[in-house]
Amino acid sequence: MAKKVVEIENLVKRYKDLIALDHLNLAIEEGEVFGLLGPNGSGKTTAINCILALLHFDKGSVKVFGEEMQPDSYGSKRQIGVVLQNVAVFEELTVQENIDYFCGLYVQEKQVRKQYVEEAIEFSGLENFRKFYPKKLSGGLLRRLNIACGIAHKPKLIIMDEPTVAVDPQSRNRILEGIQKLNRDGATIIYTSHYMEEVEQICSRIAILDKGRCVASGTKEELKSMIKMGEKIHMEAEGLAPYQIAEIKELRHVYQVDYRDGMLEIRCSGGKHNLVHILEYFGSREIGFGRVYSELPTLNDVFLEITGKDLRDHAEVK
Ligand code: ADP
Ligand code: MG
Repeated sequence: MAKKVVEIENLVKRYKDLIALDHLNLAIEEGEVFGLLGPNGSGKTTAINCILALLHFDKGSVKVFGEEMQPDSYGSKRQIGVVLQNVAVFEELTVQENIDYFCGLYVQEKQVRKQYVEEAIEFSGLENFRKFYPKKLSGGLLRRLNIACGIAHKPKLIIMDEPTVAVDPQSRNRILEGIQKLNRDGATIIYTSHYMEEVEQICSRIAILDKGRCVASGTKEELKSMIKMGEKIHMEAEGLAPYQIAEIKELRHVYQVDYRDGMLEIRCSGGKHNLVHILEYFGSREIGFGRVYSELPTLNDVFLEITGKDLRDHAEVK
């Protein structure tokens, strides 16, 4: 069995009356890119801060590398790279000096450090900006610097808290590819985001958080197989009568039909032959239709079915 890098059991964190983490359980194994997916306010950052022993919690336990995490667990902390949600770099240091500073907290040997700093610059694509001060950098480059500072010392566990919020698409892709490369090179990654597409793209396992609870976890395939919806079919069809909608609802595997502005949205359980049945119905009744397309469930559908809420409604940047 793979080694557990982080184990969280029954973690409770309150801010006065608000329960930010409500008996959270998570186990993250060596070699994973583990995604914490949840809307703003679901407790992602609070969970990260508890893992890092930056916050006191009310109940439960957090183990990192098999040991209870304490504020002075320097041995463990040395092996962890952190990229916090809010960019934290020194304004009075250049790009290169910032990376060197953070790397220097863990790596004393000068030659090694020089090499590591160079690798982090290259990794983040900051070669042309090494002499720049942070305030001259665009949002995306600043994020990349923030990441370079967090990972230069080659930690075994890398925790990134929403590293792609408000960055341009080019930096975003670069960041996502970078995370995958760090993982291939041996690091375990914890990645938080409220963007389901990103989590789906890079994470080997995902925990979905809502109001401080883990409402579901597993691989994306496992998560999608937990829900009723197997396929969503969209169809342009003008002027359907209510009895026809009712008949469509009676077709095999169909459990929900929405019809708005000439657009049919048909939710089916199971993922096979649904389109065939629907097209057969339209053919046999000689009803005309326009564009048709089918979608497999997304992580948003998982979130929607489990919590009754749309992840995207809650995902506005703070
Ligand atoms: P996320 O990172 O998923 O957006 P957070 O962990 O930041 O969520 O927040 C979880 C909940 O705790 C939210 O309701 C937030 O308002 C609240 N919260 C976070 N930090 C504090 C704090 N320092 N004081 C009071 N409430 C807080
Ligand atoms: Mg957060």
